[in-house]
Amino acid sequence: MRHIPSPIATASWGQKIRTTTGNRMIQSKLPHVGTTIFTTMSALANECGAINLSQGFPDFDAPGGLREALARHVMAGHNQYAPMAGVMHLREQISAQIRQYRKISCDPDTEITVVPGATEGIFCAVMACVRPGDEVIMFDPCYDSYQPCVELAGGRAIHVPLTAGTFALDRDRLEAALTPRTRLIMVNSPHNPSGSTLTREDLLYLQALVERLDLLVISDEVYEHLVFDEAVHHSALEFPGLRARSFTLFSFGKTFSVTGWKTGYCVAPPALTAELRKVHQFVCFVAVTPVQLAVADFMRDEPGYPATLAAFYQRKRDLFCQALAPSRFTLAPSAGTYFQLLDYSAISREPDSVLCEQWARAHGVASIPISVFYESPPQQHYLRFCFAKSDAVLTAAAERLCRI
Ligand code: PMP
Ligand code: GLN
Repeated sequence: MRHIPSPIATASWGQKIRTTTGNRMIQSKLPHVGTTIFTTMSALANECGAINLSQGFPDFDAPGGLREALARHVMAGHNQYAPMAGVMHLREQISAQIRQYRKISCDPDTEITVVPGATEGIFCAVMACVRPGDEVIMFDPCYDSYQPCVELAGGRAIHVPLTAGTFALDRDRLEAALTPRTRLIMVNSPHNPSGSTLTREDLLYLQALVERLDLLVISDEVYEHLVFDEAVHHSALEFPGLRARSFTLFSFGKTFSVTGWKTGYCVAPPALTAELRKVHQFVCFVAVTPVQLAVADFMRDEPGYPATLAAFYQRKRDLFCQALAPSRFTLAPSAGTYFQLLDYSAISREPDSVLCEQWARAHGVASIPISVFYESPPQQHYLRFCFAKSDAVLTAAAERLCRI
């Protein structure tokens, strides 16, 4: 007979654990990590009543049809575990969308995994392929979750700065950072926080590099549909040699304005997908069932929706930038994402992390300092502003910024 511990036995066992822990210092596995800048700045904005252009999320609601679909699926009783790799209806819609937008076939069964947010997908991809001692290249400024994932896997994050001013890939610096221990390269395009995009030539170059050196890639493409002007999003999936070595991550939070639903997906070749799922099943196991069903229905019913996003956000970017024309800020180019960098060097030479707090309190607009996304922040003076906001909020924020 299996031994089922009684509540008393469990309690004393629990106590023993507590005693043991109490005698031993907990050694942080992430000693340099605090609360994320997004949480910190949103909390500050709330505390001082500032307009919150810091953390990236829309202040407007998701499409009505999508929200109704979620309510419908919850009320219809679709509230238990989904299959581990994701509801097949959703994986089929994802495959159809990739075919529609990228002209590429992906097998929903062996190449697509639904994940509870790109953050979880990135974590699982890193855990699946990085071993102690491996080096992982990431480009600064880089998204805050990358380095902790690598460190938790026992790997070493190697930071390669993007070109100052343009935030383009710097091939010489990348090549100088490669060693026989390099295992993985993490790229993000369209790029948070700069809004730059990788060109077709960049991806062809990366493809040749990873094939030659037998490397893996994590391609974070959560802003894939948010590209402006002449910029085109090039996915790692479009380059067969790159695709064969890549985990490519997407987020419904961005595409459907539901960051709080924390659902996205990872596309990877079958062998990489199998390894990703081995980790995913023990991290979250599954993404939320009714959310998956709602997103799948919406993708089936409104296949053209993602194509509307570029014009929608470009208009918001332009509205925000035009309203800032009389200000003392200089606008950096934003080819994609829903972020705009403002260069404040004509106003102040204070560090960005000092100014963003000061200005949230004194001028009522919260932003993100980009130095926190660097291993060694260069001499530059940028703050990041999120323009996924209503026109009235963007105008009010710009008015306040013009007074600085
Ligand atoms: N990568 C980048 C570059 C991001 O900006 C974000 C945040 N939104 C994520 C990944 C995480 O996406 P999700 O909310 O789906 O976890
Ligand atoms: N990705 C969002 C941003 O860049 C924030 C996500 C988060 O708060 N973790 O602002």
